[in-house]
Amino acid sequence: MRKYPKSGNKKLKTYDKWFSRYIRLRDTNKYGFGLCITCHRKCHFDALDAGHCFTRNNLSTRFDDKNVHAQCHNCNRFKGGESEAHKLRIAHRYGQETLDWLTKKTSSMMNLLPFEIKEGSDKYRELVRELYAQKSARFKEENQNLIT
Ligand SMILES: [Zn+2]
Repeated sequence: MRKYPKSGNKKLKTYDKWFSRYIRLRDTNKYGFGLCITCHRKCHFDALDAGHCFTRNNLSTRFDDKNVHAQCHNCNRFKGGESEAHKLRIAHRYGQETLDWLTKKTSSMMNLLPFEIKEGSDKYRELVRELYAQKSARFKEENQNLIT
């Protein structure tokens, strides 16, 4: 098994940052509003997290964009992520096969090498810039920090 490099932690945090921004931008409209994946409450970008269905602890699904969706602070931080409701939403949105695949994938051990972390981080930084460009002028004005 590959050992996870200690020096990778900072880079992994950067990867988390771009991936999380990507998910929240993907799941909100051009004005920055989107629905919580589990309670369906309409929330502003600032009130949404990138909520994982299968926990972030496992690297094999941590950066899988079908495992992660915009989720309100209440569901994500205070209700333990509402993972059962999240599973139902995944099955509804992508099909039961996708949920089965994620369930299988999350139980497998996986480490990321530094170059894989760098590649993933760079990919999502680019995607963040693309999605940001499609948002309204006001949203961009108020969220310039998102692309830095
Ligand atoms: Zn919610």
